[in-house]
Amino acid sequence: MSLNEELFNRAKKSIPGGVNSPVRAFNAVGGIPRFVKRANGPYFWDANSKKYIDYIGSWGPAIVGHANPEVIEAVQKSAHNGLSFGAPTELEILMAEEICKLVPSIEQLRLVSSGTEAVMSALRLSRGYTKRDIMIKFEGCYHGHVDAMLVKAGSGLSTFGKPSSSGVPKNFSSHTIVLEYNNSEFLEKTFKEIGSSIACVILEPIAGNMNFIRGKDEFLKTARDLCTKYGSTLIFDEVMTGFRVAKGGVQSIQNIIPDITVLGKVIGGGLPVAAFGSRKEIMSCLSPEGPIYQAGTLSGNPVAVTAGLTTLKILQKPNFFENLSKNSNKLVRGIVEIAKEKNIKMCGDSLGGMFGIFFLESLPTNYSQIIKFNNANFNKFFHLMLDEGVYFAPSAFEAGFISSDHNEIIIDETLKKVKNVLEKMSKENLSTNLT
Ligand SMILES: *Cc1c(COP(=O)(O)O)cnc(C)c1O
Repeated sequence: MSLNEELFNRAKKSIPGGVNSPVRAFNAVGGIPRFVKRANGPYFWDANSKKYIDYIGSWGPAIVGHANPEVIEAVQKSAHNGLSFGAPTELEILMAEEICKLVPSIEQLRLVSSGTEAVMSALRLSRGYTKRDIMIKFEGCYHGHVDAMLVKAGSGLSTFGKPSSSGVPKNFSSHTIVLEYNNSEFLEKTFKEIGSSIACVILEPIAGNMNFIRGKDEFLKTARDLCTKYGSTLIFDEVMTGFRVAKGGVQSIQNIIPDITVLGKVIGGGLPVAAFGSRKEIMSCLSPEGPIYQAGTLSGNPVAVTAGLTTLKILQKPNFFENLSKNSNKLVRGIVEIAKEKNIKMCGDSLGGMFGIFFLESLPTNYSQIIKFNNANFNKFFHLMLDEGVYFAPSAFEAGFISSDHNEIIIDETLKKVKNVLEKMSKENLSTNLT
């Protein structure tokens, strides 16, 4: 039995499913999850000391590479000054100023400790500000495990959703409408019917939780215009895309200004930091200035903020995102080219340090298209890549991530391994609809 398997069996005794977040358990792809011993740059090593090129990067945060020396040194220094005070620090101001400078829509922000917490607070803020209850979300977008966001589509267009998790009361989801991503027509119809009761539209401007699907310009613009027209708030959940696809998130390249922005992942540089921000007018509704309550014992934690700030400083170096884009594009184009040579239908897309690869003929634009994905082929691909020492996300519905340490040499090495794997797959012709 491998050490990973031993650890997994032991973990299952004291932790449900052996993991502290479900996707880590490999349920979608089968097999034994790898227990990470340590990580450095683009690599991590598992319990058997097997080395992998890591294309998850902690699901986004590790954008400057694992155990980046600048980040580690700053964190160590900060830890020596104490771990948490429950009183304000200058570090929090520096962090807020940095984010306000870089994200066009944010004049003020609050720091919290997880993306879920930030989304939950943003939703309350939008409801308190508009004095309305109804929220619109889109199928396939993930906004953390907030009760009212664990909702699947109802039976009709503007009908309310149903809980997608046990333990969520029906009436908690009864204010959430779930619509199809990238479908402006459905959104317009819904606003026409009940626009004056809609508190917010929340979306991932590039959806990273159904692999990698771009919000179309026209769809994002329609959402913006409708929210303005009906006095609803537009919330961009940039927990994944913020400082990941571009310095100021998707909004900085799309020229669409949301009312509220939610950030997480990268802004903590690997420690628990998330944030939600908006215009002063909206943010001043929060306690202690206004009537909307929001708080947190560890919010703005000095050590976590230090990791985040140091990461944000590094990613502002010249050409940081240009290089990420170049390398993620090289990876995706390389994989698609190899697949083509082997007569395997694949396509892909990327931006900055984020990418998606699909066993599909053309890029999907919504959830119902992505679920046509050939899972059997993906799972085979995933496990063969793992054997080769390349760790992609253990689910066909998750995006991939690179760091600034994933240079051309690492990408070339990965592509060589992809070539071996796709060659094997095309020879074995494992699934009849592979080609
Ligand atoms: C990861 C993620 C969240 C949840 O963040 P956690 O820190 O895991 O709670 C919310 N929204 C999006 C878009 C995410 O990718």
